[in-house]
Amino acid sequence: MSAVSTRINLLDLDEAGLQEFFISIGEQPWRAQQVLKWVYHQQQTDFRKMSNLGLALRQRLAEIAEIRPPVMLKEQVSVDGTIKWLLGLPGGNAVETVYIPETNRGTLCVSSQVGCALNCTFCSTATQGFSRNLTTSEIIGQVWLAAHALGHQRNGTRKITNVVMMGMGEPLLNFDAVVRAMRLMRENLGFGLAAKRVTLSTAGLVPGIRKLREEIDVALAVSLHAPEDELRSTLVPLNRKYPIAELMQACRDYIAGRHKRSVTFEYTLMDGINDHSEHAHKLVRLLKSVPSKLNLIPFNPFPGARYRCSPPDRIKRFQEIVMSKGQIAIVRKTRGEDIDAACGQLIGKVRDRTRRSEQHRLRLAELQQ
Ligand code: SAH
Repeated sequence: MSAVSTRINLLDLDEAGLQEFFISIGEQPWRAQQVLKWVYHQQQTDFRKMSNLGLALRQRLAEIAEIRPPVMLKEQVSVDGTIKWLLGLPGGNAVETVYIPETNRGTLCVSSQVGCALNCTFCSTATQGFSRNLTTSEIIGQVWLAAHALGHQRNGTRKITNVVMMGMGEPLLNFDAVVRAMRLMRENLGFGLAAKRVTLSTAGLVPGIRKLREEIDVALAVSLHAPEDELRSTLVPLNRKYPIAELMQACRDYIAGRHKRSVTFEYTLMDGINDHSEHAHKLVRLLKSVPSKLNLIPFNPFPGARYRCSPPDRIKRFQEIVMSKGQIAIVRKTRGEDIDAACGQLIGKVRDRTRRSEQHRLRLAELQQ
């Protein structure tokens, strides 16, 4: 059997796309609703079992279409319950997806690209460079596979209550595929998540933030990491193109006219780099102009990293300063550290990577035979 399929993967289509597909094959557009329910509510990928479709249509679909999520290569479970899946993609690439269970919610952290092109100096994904954009099916397929593995039930045990586009890659640089996948997360016939429960995180691509507002209603998170341009440009090189003032304006515009909404700012605390009390004061002044929540992330180390995590007392002091000025701020608990699933650790150990990708290739070759 050939590894490259010529069938259309229906996971690449959102509701509107699926309607168009059915029209293009001479069927009624409402077939889309039936198929979406099978795929996302029943987790069914076999057309033959879609009993309300009629035998002829089922056979036709089996010939021209498929429902194919990425291949799950490996599952790792952390001592704290965090789960990381390694997913194999055609061509031997792999991405990681992380599930973070908490008392009242379950958050799935989804990747948007293989590698990343932005070169943020404190992120391990950057060290692997950029390979390619993920397709919609590879993005929504991460949610589909996780739901499947967790026994998530749409109308029963909802294991995945939130999705964050905070895995590998810059989601706004893969705009169309990411938006289509987020539509499937939000649509009732898809995963049915509310706007506040689907979050896109960006390193600060200003035109992308503006375009996003026109396309879909989701929560916005921005990786800030510094309250001033000079420092931010050394951490997030994209800042040279879109400096902080422009970024803040885009954030204000993003939530303008939307009821009770705020932007989440992520701020990774690095020892002696961005964790002085002066930074905290500047940050408060900056965030005054945007209704916002601040997520303080202790830096997660990785082999070859040039930064260290701020000591606990400095993290605490930083949080106290911003909170004393009325800014909502939480220190994000590091999760899944033992399995390299924490922020900025995806496709973690650099040295290990060659060996690992070698193994993936072998495993994929086996699966595709
Ligand atoms: N490219 C997008 C999506 C990635 S989200 C973005 O930048 O927002 C991943 C989050 O983890 C970002 O806020 C990123 O800045 C942060 N991060 C990256 N490396 C990290 C590290 N080593 N320790 C802690 N946080 C890190």
